[in-house]
Amino acid sequence: MSSASFQSLDRARSIAIQAVLDASQLTHRVQAELVDDDVVQKRDRSPVTVADYGAQAVVSHQLAQAFPEIPLVGEEDAAALRADSELATKVTRFVQQVSPDISTDEVMTAIDRGQHAGGSGLFWVLDPIDGTKGFLRRQQYAVCLALIENGRVLVAVLGCPNLPVDPADPDGERGCLFVAVDGRGATQYRVSTGTETPITVSSVADSSDASFVESVEAAHADHSRQGQLARSLNISNAPVRMDSQCKFAAVARGQASLYLRLSPKPGYDQKIWDIAAGAKIIEEAGGTVSDATGKPLNFAHGRTIGTGDLFASNGHLHACVLSALTRQSEDS
Ligand code: AMP
Ligand code: MG
Repeated sequence: MSSASFQSLDRARSIAIQAVLDASQLTHRVQAELVDDDVVQKRDRSPVTVADYGAQAVVSHQLAQAFPEIPLVGEEDAAALRADSELATKVTRFVQQVSPDISTDEVMTAIDRGQHAGGSGLFWVLDPIDGTKGFLRRQQYAVCLALIENGRVLVAVLGCPNLPVDPADPDGERGCLFVAVDGRGATQYRVSTGTETPITVSSVADSSDASFVESVEAAHADHSRQGQLARSLNISNAPVRMDSQCKFAAVARGQASLYLRLSPKPGYDQKIWDIAAGAKIIEEAGGTVSDATGKPLNFAHGRTIGTGDLFASNGHLHACVLSALTRQSEDS
């Protein structure tokens, strides 16, 4: 398959959507059955473990059947399942609700397909559950899948099972997918109806009117550096904190105009599965994503992108945020 082949991209798009829908249904079921307040208080990570492996098995198995020749960069491997038959059985039970005939061995083989090194060429990249803390809090998390060819994202699908369909009605219906194909725009897919609506970024052009999103976890994003940056841009709106790549979706559909992701750990290198799908959805919705020096992100670098700091905007705000970032790094 190559980017020139529109028919192949259509097929990749529809198979990716189905795989993410099925995996999102699995994570949603695990969340309903296994996550309770007790789990959150004890910080028992077992539900997220089951959901993580289960979602990677579902997506990888479907991709292997449809595109056996395309490798996968996935966050997980099956070592823990091979060492713990009880865990393997539990994961298989959830995967069988999607693929009734799959065996435990096939589940582990599917998960282990995710060990590709990335780099150049054509491959899928998957974060089976991005935002595990959000998953455990029953807040935002995402199933993130992208098809990449020589560093260019051709297809991106973000499953956001807990994200309100209408940002203006935060207590209303939840469950959306975001889909983008290279050069063909981005859509929001409503899970309950299967309907798709084109999305675009906001038109905010003055940084003082900007609303920005950032990670909930201070370990994943430097809240103090981001707060300083926001003040230097005269942003008066408080940041909206959200787990997972749902932040990219918020910018892509115009709910927020800026996403700051400056790592609190010097030397941290962002994983491609944490960024690729969300970044493409923003770009196809008309926005811009770059590293902190304004360079495009590099998804042909391997399993990481080669930088810890990045930001995404509606495009209109990109230049002024970049100059504020440059001033901030010169002053520090
Ligand atoms: P978020 O939902 O924004 O909190 O991001 C979750 C992702 O942050 C996880 O999937 C981790 O891979 C990633 N992560 C872990 N440590 C760091 C770090 N020091 N800097 C940035 N991201 C991180
Ligand atoms: Mg992640």
